[in-house]
Amino acid sequence: MSHRVLIIGSGPAAHTAAIYAARAELKPVLFEGFMAGGIAAGGQLTTTTDVDNFPGFPEGVMGPELTERFRAQSERFGTTIHTETITELDLSSRPFHFKADSEVGTADSIIIATGATARRLDIPGTNDGELWQRGISACAVCDGALPAFRDQPLAVIGGGDSAVEEAAYLTKFGSKVYLVHRRDELRASKIMQQRALHNPKIEMLWSHVVTQAKGTDFLQAMRVKDLKTDEECDIPVAGLFFAIGHTPNTAFLNGQIDIDEQDYIITKPDSTQTNVPGVFAAGDVQDKKWRQAITAAGTGCMAALEAEQFLAANP
Ligand code: FAD
Ligand code: NDP
Repeated sequence: MSHRVLIIGSGPAAHTAAIYAARAELKPVLFEGFMAGGIAAGGQLTTTTDVDNFPGFPEGVMGPELTERFRAQSERFGTTIHTETITELDLSSRPFHFKADSEVGTADSIIIATGATARRLDIPGTNDGELWQRGISACAVCDGALPAFRDQPLAVIGGGDSAVEEAAYLTKFGSKVYLVHRRDELRASKIMQQRALHNPKIEMLWSHVVTQAKGTDFLQAMRVKDLKTDEECDIPVAGLFFAIGHTPNTAFLNGQIDIDEQDYIITKPDSTQTNVPGVFAAGDVQDKKWRQAITAAGTGCMAALEAEQFLAANP
């Protein structure tokens, strides 16, 4: 099949792009993936509960319901959705060729919105079915304001800019925040390091790792190990946040699109245009800084408008 716009992904970026492209009568086709990047179609929001910071939902909305609503709105305006993963692209000439799990086709323009996967550690007690999302999270900005964390001791694992930023953010809510880092110096930029080291509510646990999360219905304590002495102890915490980086879903691009040293797609400033004319990128796959549903949706809108302009100029 030949298409004008192929959208790859299923989160807020992909569906916002689909809504705009469909309303521009470009008849977009969207491949939402089948457990692509280890996540169900719908993207990262399917892995969370309450979303309280997406405008339009004053009472909050559950992540899976929000993604269902995105999908329904895409379909309402005529987007064709396939529950398949795009496995290969050939971007050497237009129309671009694509291969999915069982389908093949061509497209005059492509919007890549395949997102990123927050890295987690396989620590006993933190997994799905254990305390994951019951005190354990991979997004402080998303979950930090939950009532369960108010005035409670919290912890962040990591030593990069995200870990410091998240720890500083969590001091607004928690009674104190432990920053658990496996080495005795931070990877974060100097200015961010100062933020952590001068914040009286942040306590550094240098050269420590978390070995277990403990609790019955909700997290109550973390077991930590001092890597220099091998000593272990339990520390009461109500929240434990992974901030050890994200993995953008870019492997299937096979080097055809410029990516940075952390595998994020590089887009032109103030644009979603990649290095290949006619191929655009939106959402977390090109954003290592903001990583929010609303920012993903915003760049999804930009990508669709830029694709529309590109197709008008390159019929
Ligand atoms: P994603 O949501 O990452 O979705 C992309 C999806 O595309 C993938 O998951 C996969 O299903 C699909 N895909 C990947 N590769 C392929 C392929 N090759 N072919 C086809 N499909 C593919 N943000 C907020 O604003 N508020 C919150 O409360 C909030 N809570 C969060 C809680 C958690 C636990 C997490 C992990 C994140 C949270 N976020 C929250 C962040 C938010 O979910 C992301 O910023 C947002 O989902 C990014 O959207 P996206 O469209 O870029 O892609
Ligand atoms: P980074 O890759 O920079 O840092 C990841 C941190 O997690 C490192 O300290 C690393 O430890 C630690 N880590 C990784 N794996 C493990 C593990 N298995 N066990 C324990 N710890 C682990 O990721 P970030 O998300 O922090 O940052 C990504 C990019 O985004 C960076 O370029 C950053 O500068 C940028 N960013 C900028 C912000 C800003 O400017 N405000 C905010 C957020 C991100 P170790 O150091 O030992 O390797």
